[in-house]
Amino acid sequence: MAPSSRKRVSLVVPCYNEDEAFPHLRSALCDLIRDLNFRYEVEALLVDDGSRDRTWSQIRDFAREFPGVRGLSLSRNFGHQAALTCGYRHATGDAVISLDADLQDPPSVIVEMLETWERGADVVYAVRRNRAGESRFKKWTAAGFYRVARYLGASSLRADAGDFRLLDRRSLDAVLAMPERHRFLRGMVGWVGFSTADVYYDRQARIAGHTKYPLRKMLGLATDAIVSCSSVPLRFPYYFSVSAAGLCVLYFLYLLISQASGHTQFPPGWMALMIAVVSFGCLILCSLGVLGEYVGRIYEQVKSRPLYLVRETIGMPPEAAVRGNGRSMAA
Ligand code: UDP
Ligand code: MG
Repeated sequence: MAPSSRKRVSLVVPCYNEDEAFPHLRSALCDLIRDLNFRYEVEALLVDDGSRDRTWSQIRDFAREFPGVRGLSLSRNFGHQAALTCGYRHATGDAVISLDADLQDPPSVIVEMLETWERGADVVYAVRRNRAGESRFKKWTAAGFYRVARYLGASSLRADAGDFRLLDRRSLDAVLAMPERHRFLRGMVGWVGFSTADVYYDRQARIAGHTKYPLRKMLGLATDAIVSCSSVPLRFPYYFSVSAAGLCVLYFLYLLISQASGHTQFPPGWMALMIAVVSFGCLILCSLGVLGEYVGRIYEQVKSRPLYLVRETIGMPPEAAVRGNGRSMAA
């Protein structure tokens, strides 16, 4: 049979204990695949992230009964970002779309995402216009998180876009080439660059079941996000020491003046002790800041992300685009 000329689209869905939501997901995916099949060759990759309920047996049944559906089961619960990475690694599409299993990311938006991709965008973010069914606490912490992340230098992070996005093959390969273990995919996709576009949607409430992101996992993700996108926290001791040193000088002047003017009489040795303690405190913070600068550089080096990614070349041999994606200065 001649190979199909249709472009390939992969849908990647990480699933963790989604027994209750799965029948809804299944019927939504069936409808979507039928709709898209006229234009694209579609595969749905369902990654079971070590569920302890019937999620995997439901994925298996679905894959047996519906062409184009494939399943992967992880040996235990590795977490959402790892499950998503696994799906990304096995996806074969020219465009790969990730979405949650609870239908909070409505599959109907995918048609618009594909149209935007066809018009030339390399990355299409589905941006939340509102967040139905999420607690005030979650909305508030999410807004605070994006603000802090921006402030700390994660400027490429698209606010209000979760992991519901389309990546074309080139952007996906760039993300997969990053070897880091603590993966915050939203930040990594933002770092890749290329041309991005937004599609807006109203985030639905979870169709069934309850969130698989308790506060503990959310805090873990936020820490991964900030640490992987920014080395600024390592400089904090340095900033503290500089501001503390300024305050200390003023404090020492105050002590000297009040002692000299006879305003206050300190016990013998008290001033020397205070000056020694405070100065050494500043010195230690300052040294930590200097260490932080070096540790930050070691961290960036160990992550060994490419130094740059080439968008396009002209008048160059085709392999130049790939060779340009420097792994090291020697590339
Ligand atoms: N998920 C996963 N592994 C986990 C936690 C979550 O694969 O350890 C999946 C989950 O099944 C869902 C998606 O990640 O498809 C997002 O999780 P959830 O909807 O519970 O997060 P929330 O929308 O509440 O932030
Ligand atoms: Mg959800």
